[in-house]
Amino acid sequence: MSIQELEQTYELGVYSRRDIVLVRGRGARLFDENGREYIDCAANVGVSNIGHGNEAVARAVHEQYLTLGNCYSMFYNPVRARLAQKLASLAPGNLNKVFFCNSGAEANEAAIKFARASTGRSEIIAAMRGFHGKTMGALAATWGPEYQKPFAPMLPGLKHVPYNNFAKLEAAVGGNTAAILLEVVQGEGGVRIGDKDYFQKVRQICDTNGILLIIDEVQTGFGRTGTLFACEQFVEPDMLCLAKSLAGGIPMGAVLCNDRIKVPVKSHTSTFGGNPTACAAALASVDVIEKEGLVEKSKTLGEYFLKELRDIKNSKIREVRGLGLMLGIELKEKAGPYVQKLTEKGVIVLLAGATVIRLLPPLVITKEEIDTVVEALKETLGR
Ligand SMILES: *Cc1c(COP(=O)(O)O)cnc(C)c1O
Repeated sequence: MSIQELEQTYELGVYSRRDIVLVRGRGARLFDENGREYIDCAANVGVSNIGHGNEAVARAVHEQYLTLGNCYSMFYNPVRARLAQKLASLAPGNLNKVFFCNSGAEANEAAIKFARASTGRSEIIAAMRGFHGKTMGALAATWGPEYQKPFAPMLPGLKHVPYNNFAKLEAAVGGNTAAILLEVVQGEGGVRIGDKDYFQKVRQICDTNGILLIIDEVQTGFGRTGTLFACEQFVEPDMLCLAKSLAGGIPMGAVLCNDRIKVPVKSHTSTFGGNPTACAAALASVDVIEKEGLVEKSKTLGEYFLKELRDIKNSKIREVRGLGLMLGIELKEKAGPYVQKLTEKGVIVLLAGATVIRLLPPLVITKEEIDTVVEALKETLGR
């Protein structure tokens, strides 16, 4: 059987698949089983910010696994301690405590629970087109009947309001509102960038009413938008949810919390959360981001990329949006066929909704590689 047939036969089939078998990666390049090379503008939806095959992270994982690979959090561990301190030092505002988990959904799941425990209230307000993961709690916050319907009923207490519309949000707030959960740039929702003014008003209404603000930066974290955390450009949250690129590609999630978050001991824990192997990977990955200046690169290359995309004159394009190396090209028609054609030209991109081509390259992408991508986009979109 081919690799495709093996996966189709023995896996449950919950992923919509593209017909390539990827076997290797280096920097911003991916290689398929036939040795064909691709420029990666997906980065595993924002996991691979430091690029593929980073040697420093590989070495850190190797050495930590040999030293002590796992250490349940009932014991103290020096690597976990150092990462917690490092994240607190990097975090904006007063986010000085961390809870470690293993994925983005788990981070949001934890944040929802922490909000309820800390406020004694049960309602969470999230946004239409928002994406927060697919475990039961996170799923209730995620927008989209196609995701929710097969698994009904949803967790009660979750409400959705239009994104970036303060009047509608204000109308939804009540005495039982525990938290407001938002992305500052909606990723799955189509690379939609919120207004700073909107987020400032959200902060105010939270402060006035004792509501906690949870910002989901699972996709926008670690340099993606030209600052280490995207929220630095918008608002200061009470909880910041992280995962995807946190540990350089090793599974890890985290919730950074300020001192308004109070959760009883033992009430929420995780077996793998804060395991030293993932912590070592995260420390090494953050080190790579700092030493290689990837946040600054994301900002300058992102500005260049956005300008080049906006210079494409094509009647099929409705709008080009971007912040750092998180870019979206909204078409006036379905984007799926163009994603396929781009793959054939050796460029891997993402969809966001039906009409948006989403570009999330590793932050180590070069200007030359960006030029190649822009050329491929021009050819693919035609006239
Ligand atoms: C990917 C993503 C999640 C879910 O992360 P998983 O690790 O797949 O559970 C949550 N929120 C945002 C913004 C994401 O992009």
